[in-house]
Amino acid sequence: MTIKQYAVIGLGRFGVSVARRLHEAGHEVLGIDINEERVEDAEPYVTHAVVADTTEEKALNSIGIRNFDCVIVAIGIDMQSSILTVSILKELGIKKIIAKALGKRHGQVLDKVGAEWVVYPERDMGERVANQLLSPNMLNYIELSKEYSIEEIMIPSKMAGHNLRDLDIRAKYNVSVIAIVRDGNITILPSPDEIIKEKDILVMIGHRKDLTVFSNIE
Ligand code: ADP
Repeated sequence: MTIKQYAVIGLGRFGVSVARRLHEAGHEVLGIDINEERVEDAEPYVTHAVVADTTEEKALNSIGIRNFDCVIVAIGIDMQSSILTVSILKELGIKKIIAKALGKRHGQVLDKVGAEWVVYPERDMGERVANQLLSPNMLNYIELSKEYSIEEIMIPSKMAGHNLRDLDIRAKYNVSVIAIVRDGNITILPSPDEIIKEKDILVMIGHRKDLTVFSNIE
């Protein structure tokens, strides 16, 4: 793995979560916040943490922000600071800027001033919670488009003991099994002879509506 250098600006709950995960994965992470207390609290989870106001170009230059592969702007409530920080980073030539938005308008502005990827944690998490409620057996999903997704679905217990050919999932539910997760091990493109066991997780691809039907089988 090539070790990358990430800078996370704004060490609130979201910023610290991003920083911590990247650091745990072995990357170098610089945490930056205007608030000294936030910087101290984040220290155990990052490589270095510094106090700086990122709406000041000078401050960003003295940190050497240009040396980072990717900068994540996790300032939320202070929208003005978030927008200003992204626009300065863009001017400084940072290629990969990821920014957190509180809402649609905020996100549109971040996009205009140069964020490569705008994330909406609250909106997305709200959607995830609702999706989980709508599909009780679904454990995880990746949205491929508005209509299609890949989902991890706990098998309905009545399917245990049958092989994939007999279950005929594709014809009956219009979704395809692309993998089976059993005791933490994954079998990609399982054979039609594969017998499904209790507690197997099927990784399935298809239309979201069809997947919802499948994940609601009692
Ligand atoms: P969360 O909801 O993820 O906790 P917050 O909006 O509460 O997010 O946290 C954003 C963080 O960004 C705060 O710790 C705040 O001190 C920091 N921040 C705000 N403005 C600046 C700035 N100009 N420079 C650096 N950090 C900033």
